[in-house]
Amino acid sequence: MDGVTPIIEITDLAKQYPLPDNKNETFWAVDGVSLSINRGEIFGILGPNGAGKTTTLEMLEGLNDIDRGEARIAGIDVRDDPFKVKQVIGVQLQANEYFDNLSLRELLVLFGRLYDRDVSPMDLLESVQLTDKANAKPESLSGGQKQRFSIACAMVNEPKVLFLDEPTTGLDPQAKRNLWDLVRELNDSGMTIVLTTHNMEEAESLCGRIAIMDHGKVVAEGTPQDLIMQHAPEPPAAPLHGNLEDVFLALTGHALRD
Ligand code: ADP
Repeated sequence: MDGVTPIIEITDLAKQYPLPDNKNETFWAVDGVSLSINRGEIFGILGPNGAGKTTTLEMLEGLNDIDRGEARIAGIDVRDDPFKVKQVIGVQLQANEYFDNLSLRELLVLFGRLYDRDVSPMDLLESVQLTDKANAKPESLSGGQKQRFSIACAMVNEPKVLFLDEPTTGLDPQAKRNLWDLVRELNDSGMTIVLTTHNMEEAESLCGRIAIMDHGKVVAEGTPQDLIMQHAPEPPAAPLHGNLEDVFLALTGHALRD
């Protein structure tokens, strides 16, 4: 029963950090997040800056310690077995984290070796429409190309789940649309995708379900349509009903900057 089988199960997940202005005290940056994400979903995590989205992803990726609660991906306990989890997930790195002197093709081979896999760099580059850049260095790519390349890198281990942290921030409209198409294609091929975004249009058009986070907690969860009907059914400016941006503002009270 694809589509209704949970692949990510998160229960009461929490992370505390020192307070910025008083390092002796801590606050919960992620404060009891529970979510169940199904196999084959594109699931969006929305929220204002500082809501705890990135920290949540980092804990799921095994890149940040879990202070409370638990998370399982494909049945693997993230805290008990972070190495095994890394075999089934793809994590998008930022382009400035690459080695300077290697070409895209060489970088993909290198990343494949890290996972003990013989990758076909040209196939990966083709899947993100970058074959013509095979011999280029990451620094020479445009913003959209860099994002697509970072997704190719995240795919070297053929992950079941792909995590994308604000994948389209800073991209121009065309590059953004190209990336959306790529995310849809990957999802059509069976990959579960979890992404964070500030962009309501992105969440509404890409995600089957979303969670809205604020102050470390999930304040609402559901399909974009359900959330709109529940939280923004009739804003005065629209004849029928509001959009996801109205839901976000109604729930968090924060203005958007994107
Ligand atoms: P978001 O991704 O929603 O913008 P983050 O998860 O990056 O939010 O941050 C959540 C909160 O945790 C913010 O208040 C942020 O300042 C704080 N924070 C994030 N990383 C650290 C860190 N390494 N040390 C201390 N505080 C942090």
